[in-house]
Amino acid sequence: MSAIPNLKVQCPCGRIINHPSEYKLLLLKLEMKEIDILCPNDVCYLRELGYVKFDIKDSKLIFKEAAFYPPFVTWNASQFGSEKAAELLKTHLRILVSEVMDWPRIKETYFRYYTSSGARKEEGSEESGT
Ligand SMILES: [Zn+2]
Repeated sequence: MSAIPNLKVQCPCGRIINHPSEYKLLLLKLEMKEIDILCPNDVCYLRELGYVKFDIKDSKLIFKEAAFYPPFVTWNASQFGSEKAAELLKTHLRILVSEVMDWPRIKETYFRYYTSSGARKEEGSEESGT
């Protein structure tokens, strides 16, 4: 049996993040096919730690890329060493994208709010046609 891996990283604000499920995800930029990764600390001065980008193909959400921003990366490199930090943060992104993020819900939200204008236009043109 292998021990539970220690995934502890730290935000420059001092908040320890023990597991990727602790991040807050912000769907404000969903229209741009982007999701913000936020620090769990509400009063964090950095707030945005990284992003996840996706694409739409055949009405499916396809993961495109995920990354943490330099302030968060360099801070962790200074705490744990750059190699260890890079490995930890890579693991965090992998778990975040594959296990934590609720893709079906994100997909539903995306299609409900950001593709409805096209549907409305069709309805409108039908009305004006009569
Ligand atoms: Zn923070």
